[in-house]
Amino acid sequence: MRKFKTESKKLLDLMINSIYTNKEIFLRELISNASDAVDKLNFKSLTDDSLQINPDDLAIRVAFDRDARTITVSDNGIGMTAEELEKNLGTIAHSGSQEFKAENADSQGDAVDIIGQFGVGFYSAFMVAKKVQVVSRAYGEDEAHVWESDGLEGYTIEPGERADHGTDVILTLRDNEPGKDGESGEDYDRYLSEWTLKDLIKRYSNYVRYPIKMMVTKSRQKPKPEDAGDDYKPEYEDYQELETINSMTPIWKKRASEVEQSDYNEFYKSTFHDYEDPARTISFHAEGTLEYDALLFVPGRAPFDLYSKDYEKGLALYSSNVMIMEKCADLLPDYYNFVRGVVDSEDISLNISRETLQHDRQLHAIARRIEKKITDDLCDMRDNDREAYEKFFENFGRGLKFGIYNTYGAKADELADLLLFWSAKNQKMITLREYAEAMPAGQKAIYYAAGDDRDRLSKMPVVTGVLTRGYDVLLCTQDVDEFTFQAMREYVAKNMPKVYEDDAAREAAEKAQADGAEPETEDRHLELKNVATGDLDLASEDEKKEAEEATKEHSGLFDAMKEALGDKVEKVAVSSRLVGEGEAPACISTEGPLSLEMEKVLKRGPEGEAEGLPKTQRVLELNAKHPVFAKLTAAQDAGDTEKIKLYAGLLYDQALLVEGILPEDPVAFSQSVCELM
Ligand code: ADP
Ligand code: MG
Repeated sequence: MRKFKTESKKLLDLMINSIYTNKEIFLRELISNASDAVDKLNFKSLTDDSLQINPDDLAIRVAFDRDARTITVSDNGIGMTAEELEKNLGTIAHSGSQEFKAENADSQGDAVDIIGQFGVGFYSAFMVAKKVQVVSRAYGEDEAHVWESDGLEGYTIEPGERADHGTDVILTLRDNEPGKDGESGEDYDRYLSEWTLKDLIKRYSNYVRYPIKMMVTKSRQKPKPEDAGDDYKPEYEDYQELETINSMTPIWKKRASEVEQSDYNEFYKSTFHDYEDPARTISFHAEGTLEYDALLFVPGRAPFDLYSKDYEKGLALYSSNVMIMEKCADLLPDYYNFVRGVVDSEDISLNISRETLQHDRQLHAIARRIEKKITDDLCDMRDNDREAYEKFFENFGRGLKFGIYNTYGAKADELADLLLFWSAKNQKMITLREYAEAMPAGQKAIYYAAGDDRDRLSKMPVVTGVLTRGYDVLLCTQDVDEFTFQAMREYVAKNMPKVYEDDAAREAAEKAQADGAEPETEDRHLELKNVATGDLDLASEDEKKEAEEATKEHSGLFDAMKEALGDKVEKVAVSSRLVGEGEAPACISTEGPLSLEMEKVLKRGPEGEAEGLPKTQRVLELNAKHPVFAKLTAAQDAGDTEKIKLYAGLLYDQALLVEGILPEDPVAFSQSVCELM
């Protein structure tokens, strides 16, 4: 027996003792070797006329024997001589996996993972096999040889038989391992099934250039007997047929113009296990220093686990028609985690480890390009197929908003224009850009209100107040909305028609335009303002003065009310938001960065009931034009402190109710109402 070289031995140990669940990649590795061997022969025949090869005969075969518990991968490629068996399979140094540093992997702890993800070629067979035999006959040789090993200490090479050139790799599967200590065992028998092997071939080796054939069981109707009566029922029988399992030409290598959308849809559905057609298909071919093909899909519906921890983003990564990674996460930014697809580049090495992949500059370049392509496509959908875009946004919009929030606004430039919000004025979803374009002259901010329910929001006094002034309000009903806006701070509407502050400048510009000059544009920076927080700066100078004076005039009343409410509110004041007789008598606004809605969201979160959660600074604003206000001042004049206390509590609670917040003490609230009646 010949001994394995030290490096090989290390790798083998790693392979055999690996508890990695993804042992199934062994088949991908053997098929990829078979494909390489066929390639070599094919190439040789192209350059050497003495070789009589019919390219149509070149193929790979997969077979299994349930009784003997073997799986055989055969090819009619170039084959190996005894020396080549020794050199290629006896030492790792001669395999293409030499870059794999077994020592390195050993010390990294998750070496097991590396093997599973990237494969290290031939030796991966030992993850599932207790014995591996390689029967090979090199092209042009008369003799065949058998390499055999149990993967432990060494291997043997003996003369053998093979009818023609090529190689059979015969795996005798390991015994099933029963689970113990609550850990699941290992079922190797599962590979001894037509269904499993077919599935693995399709999954990992579907686009190998040569046919991968396997005997499959089919069913057919038996011929109808001559003497069959009227009540004859058709009978069926099973039969075996050699079938090509892989589809050979990757759909992403074809030009988009050569592929029907229905083919893309089928590919998408079968590959990514979806029953709905994709909403968008993006396919492109990149050339230059880095060549690759990419085929991307935006799903038509959100996968059920999209927002769960278990969801894994990523694109399938192929190199030389072999899948090297099922989900390469680095190819997609988090906010486009819903995109499915394939990237195929000859320039990426097959035996690359996850660590190198992460720092791979090529990969980053591809990722940047992919991100850009997705953004462009979404913009296109937004502008040209709004209905589809709204559906898309319903599915995945939340993720885009999180993208802005999670990057602290850094990605706002890229993502803000993809967002949609409900316009209270237009009663439909609009973009921030559309909001900006429809703003009346003089409006300086984008107004929004946040809460659970659109209907309720649209009736809130703070919202109707802004609408009455002719400004639109975006009604935001997702918990992430306001956090997103805070991360953005402002929205920049680019290249808007220039607004001229003074008449002379405007007239000059109009004249210039009449003479054929291009209209001037400017970027408009718009603050994002919650209608229920801080100073909206909406009131006219007169209105503001009026409110200030009224607050001063009634300072006695407000002090009394503030005292009645205690630290529930920062202060009580005359509202400059509520100015009409017909509007609500009071509302709650907040000062500082935290809004009532954000407070609600935080309370619902995991830290919900924790002490020290930030609290809003609330202001009870009163509508001085409302009849209730007259009642309050009357009570104050009469020195009726009890009544003021009652009214203050009631107004506060009902203003919160309008915001969808229950009174702290519902019993006291209802008692107060009864008392009043
Ligand atoms: P890699 O494929 O990256 O070179 P492997 O460990 O998968 O590394 O294979 C080691 C070597 O064994 C290959 O480079 C090849 O020379 C040889 N080999 C493996 N399988 C076959 C085969 N079916 N036919 C011919 N040569 C093979
Ligand atoms: Mg290989």
